[in-house]
Formats: sequence, structure tokens, C-alpha cells
Amino acid sequence: MTLLQVRGLNKSFGGVRAVDGINFDLQEGELLALIGPNGAGKSTTFNMVGGQLKASGGSIRLLGKELVGRRPRDICRMQVGRTFQIAETFASLSVVENVQMALLSHYGKGFSLFGSARKLYRDEAMELLSQVGMQHHAERPCSELAYGDVKRVELAMGLANDPRLLLMDEPTAGMGPEERNDLMALTKRLVVERRMAVLFTEHSMDVVFAYADRMIVLARGRLIAEGDAQYIRNHPKVQEVYFGTGKTFENEQAPSQVTP
Ligand code: ADP
Ligand code: MG
Repeated sequence: MTLLQVRGLNKSFGGVRAVDGINFDLQEGELLALIGPNGAGKSTTFNMVGGQLKASGGSIRLLGKELVGRRPRDICRMQVGRTFQIAETFASLSVVENVQMALLSHYGKGFSLFGSARKLYRDEAMELLSQVGMQHHAERPCSELAYGDVKRVELAMGLANDPRLLLMDEPTAGMGPEERNDLMALTKRLVVERRMAVLFTEHSMDVVFAYADRMIVLARGRLIAEGDAQYIRNHPKVQEVYFGTGKTFENEQAPSQVTP
């Protein structure tokens, strides 16, 4: 089933066409990677889907409903989730309290309630933590956790609005290879179990090729290729934007070291 349908989407900043008329679909149960060199328009695309940026033109439909022109809060209520980094100020709170915060925000309760409402949504928060395998760390302050575990908590927080579509901007940034693989394997499992879809950006080509069901490649705001790992790996235009001509992902010694 088609969850998201993007048509003729564009965004200009002054004279710069950050996103220039892109089209793509996202199916339920799909892990779709949005890749491309720096400045390609990935974050701009993300922020238009989430409503943080207003599109200059085109449409983004979620199950047929137009998202362009809606505020982030309304888009969130339509079950589009996104993972945010746990803010410094909340790092001293426990793991479960951070997830409770995300739930409070989702249900439209102010954070100010929190002091007198330590029990609010606790069971729901524990359930989300068990989905990411962090229930045994519930009482620890986030500041004590290993980096990979923080990312799991952020993933649980991203699930607070029971998303049909989850947006993850560089979910594995700063992680070592093993942590990266764990997080992506977990994400893939959740996509299937929760029958949602994930749109993510990622620098590591290893991760993208190993986990994405499909990928779309942007360069200078345009969509230059779309397909599975094998197709993208061998696509001449993709190799050109990443490596210049002559080199390929195959003969690149350490693709994960490339900072596109
Ligand atoms: P990516 O995430 O792929 O690295 P971005 O979407 O951040 O790329 O940026 C795409 C282009 O739009 C770049 O040329 C960038 O400089 C420009 N851009 C992004 N955000 C803004 C902004 N708020 N104001 C002006 N230009 C922007
Ligand atoms: Mg970006």
C-alpha cells in the first residue's frame, strides 16, 4: 500500500533551488533511504515532509491527505514521527522519563505538568522501551548511557505518536559499525512489526546498501536515481556524484569513510 506520495516537490531559498521537482513514493513496510552528497537537498526534503519547512510547490500526500501547508504539530498528529536528539537539558532525566516526555508532548500536555505527573504514561513508555530493548535501563539517567543506547531511546521517543511514517535524519551519525548495524536491524524489525514505513538519510553506504529496501539519490536538488542496492551501486550517475568518473563503490576501499 502506498503510504506517501511526493509529486513535483520543490523548495527555493532565494535563488537556490534546494529541492527541484522531485517525485517518489513510499510503501507501507518499506525502509527507504534518501542519499546524496552534501547540499543535495536531503534535510530540506525531510523538513518539508515533517512541516518544519513549507514547500515552494508540489505535493506530499500521506494516505491521500495533503501535508503541504500543515503545521508540524498537525503532521505529527497524522502519525508522522521523527527522531530528535535528546536535548542536553533532558539528559539528566531517566530513560523512561524522556520517553514519558515524548508521550506528554504527543498527547498535547505541557512539559510543566511533568513535576506533578511522574506516573503519567509510564506504562506506555515502558512498553515503547521494551520494543527497543531498553526496558532494563529505564531508571538510569540518559547521560550515563552508551551512545548506541541513547539512539535506541531516541527511537522509542520517535514511536510516541504511533507513527505510520517515521523520519530519521542520519540516525547512525557518530556510531561505530557494530552499533550502527544493531540500530538499523532494530529499525528494520520495527518497520515490519509495526507495519510502518521509514524514510532515513545516511552517510554510510554500508548501512544503506545493507538495510534499505530501496534508495533514492538526490544531487543538487534533483532526483537522479531510484532503486535497490544493486541498481544504485552500479548506476553511472550515482558513481559520478559520489566519486567522479572512473571509481565505483566496488573498488572504493572504505565506502563508509567517504563523507559525501
Ligand atoms: P543536505 O541535507 O542534502 O546536505 P540541505 O537540504 O541541507 O542538503 O541543503 C540543500 C541546499 O539548500 C544547499 O545548497 C543549502 O545551502 C541550501 N539551504 C538549506 N537550508 C537553507 C536555508 N535555511 N537558507 C538558505 N539556503 C539553505
Ligand atoms: Mg542534511
